[in-house]
Parts: sequence; structure tokens; C-alpha cells
Amino acid sequence: MFKRLLIKENVPLRNMCSFRIGGIGRFFLPASSVDELKQALEFARDWDIRLMPIGRGTNILFGEGMLNYFFVKLSGEFLKIERIGTDLIKIGAGVDLSKLVSVTGESLSVFRGLPGTVGGAVKGNAGVRIGNTYVSFMDAVEKIVIIDEIGEIRELSSDNIEKGYRFTNIEGIILYVWIRPDLISNFRGIMPQRIVVEPYPNAGSIFKNPSIEVSAGYLIDLCGFKGRRLGGAMVSRIHANFILNVDDASFEDVHSLIKEIEEVVFERTGYKLEREIRIMR
Ligand SMILES: Cc1cc2nc3c(=O)[nH]c(=O)nc-3n(C[C@H](O)[C@H](O)[C@H](O)COP(=O)(O)OP(=O)(O)OC[C@H]3O[C@@H](n4cnc5c(N)ncnc54)[C@H](O)[C@@H]3O)c2cc1C
Repeated sequence: MFKRLLIKENVPLRNMCSFRIGGIGRFFLPASSVDELKQALEFARDWDIRLMPIGRGTNILFGEGMLNYFFVKLSGEFLKIERIGTDLIKIGAGVDLSKLVSVTGESLSVFRGLPGTVGGAVKGNAGVRIGNTYVSFMDAVEKIVIIDEIGEIRELSSDNIEKGYRFTNIEGIILYVWIRPDLISNFRGIMPQRIVVEPYPNAGSIFKNPSIEVSAGYLIDLCGFKGRRLGGAMVSRIHANFILNVDDASFEDVHSLIKEIEEVVFERTGYKLEREIRIMR
């Protein structure tokens, strides 16, 4: 029945995330069409296993051992960028944000350097800080199309999506995203202030900033964590909100460091840090 699907079993997850950490994913499918996704959902129901979309894995820490999920990564028809009229662009959610930025010239330059896919950026309301404001990719989004857990295709207007700092309430798999770059024309030609580039594998900021005035990195630095090492994991010396995989770090190394930071920052500053990365195990 699922003959046409190229489902892989027991896939190493460390190759699917920027942290280069993780065990084995039970099933994996590069899904290239809506039809394949519908079949994948059926397969997941039959196996009683959860379907989990992943993009570039730049915001995920995977656990070790077997992760009992069916991972899907959008490919094929979800990798297209299509201009509709002068100012509307339809994008497959599997497209890399960096590719979109490069083909749209100055209109989305503010997101230059932001890793990951369009689907990941929409789901997590990714964005950058410019002066005293955050600009999110979602600010340019008009509507999205998702497939829900029973295989229904639904269109959601941006106005009907709940969103906050690094958060949306979107359920299901985002398939297509329509953007209007003119919605963020104030930021045309502007470059992000700082996208940290580290030589070691990492997943970007571990924690959300408590506010625009108080960054998580500032609090972590204040508590003396820069350079703190646990096993193969180390807090970045450039940006204290980054944990680096400096020497074959395990999930436990990174997870313990995260918990230690949370405890110490709370004890010393009273701030309860909220995690930005998704931990899956
Ligand atoms: C060096 C570095 C710098 C970074 N800087 C920033 C920054 O400045 N600002 C910022 O906001 N983020 C930053 N990040 C985090 C990351 O780039 C973003 O969160 C990015 O949008 C995640 O995209 P992804 O495709 O890698 O998603 P993944 O990490 O693969 O997935 C993240 C979440 O999105 C879900 N998801 C992915 N695709 C879909 C889909 N099609 N439908 C539904 N859900 C989906 C996954 O299930 C998961 O829950 C940085 C990361 C790194 C490594």
C-alpha cells in the first residue's frame, strides 16, 4: 500500500541538525508532494507514531538512542519559489530562507544570514533584532497552507495565527507560504545587526531573550558562563546564549549545561530563562 513511498528506517539524526548531536530516527521521508504527505500520515496512523516535520534542524536538540517519530522533510514541489503579480511570492515551506533572501534582493535583506527553512522560520516566528524592535519573517507573511493531522489541507491567514516572540500556535505541517515583502518595506536594504558565526556546530540561541532590554546572553555572561565546558559542550565565548558542540558532545552534555545555566541564572538574577530550541527525545 505504501510502496511508492521511499520511507527510510533508523536514520542517524545527527546528520539532520546543525548541532550534529542525536540518536536514531525511527522513520524518515523526504516528502515531495501533498499526495506523499497524505500517505505518510496514513502510515503514521497505522504505526501509531507521530509525524514530525523538520527543516534544516537549526533549532533542535535531538536526544540519543531511538527516537520513535516519523520525520518528514519537505522536498520536490515544496522547494519552489513563485512570483505572483508584482508583490506576492508563493514559497514552498522547504525552501531555505537564505535562498529566498538571495533571490529577492534587498526586500528581505534583513533576514540575511538566518539559517533554516521557510517552514521552520514561520513555525518558530524566527526573526532578528533591529535597533529596539524585532522583525520577524512572519511580519511579511500574508497566508500559509498547512496539512493537518487528518490529511486536510487548510489555508490560514496570518491575522488568524497567534504569534509572539519566537512562537506561533501553528499545528500541522506548513506546506506553502505567501509573502508580501512590501509589508516590511521599512527594513528594505537593511542588514541584521549580528548573526553569530561560530566554527563549531550549534543550534543558535538556546534561550529566548526575557525582553528587548534584557538579553539571555547578557544574563548568562553575567553569571560567568562564557567558556564553561561540560563534556564535549561549551558555552560560546562570543555569544553566551550559544552552546557549542566542541568535541563530539552528547545530548546529556548539552542538556546538563542548559539546566545548569537555568538554575544559576535564576538563583543569581531572578530571571527564569525560557528555552528557544526544541528538545526532542
Ligand atoms: C548559527 C545560528 C544562528 C541563528 N540565529 C537566529 C536568529 O537570529 N533568529 C532566529 O529567530 N533564529 C535563529 N536561529 C534559529 C533557527 O535558525 C531558526 O529557528 C530557524 O527558523 C529554524 O528553521 P529550521 O528549518 O532549521 O527548523 P528546524 O530546526 O528543522 O525545526 C524547528 C521547529 O520547526 C518545526 N518545523 C520545521 N519545518 C516545519 C514545517 N514545514 N511545518 C511545521 N513545522 C515545521 C519543527 O518541527 C521544529 O519544531 C539560529 C540558528 C543557528 C544555528
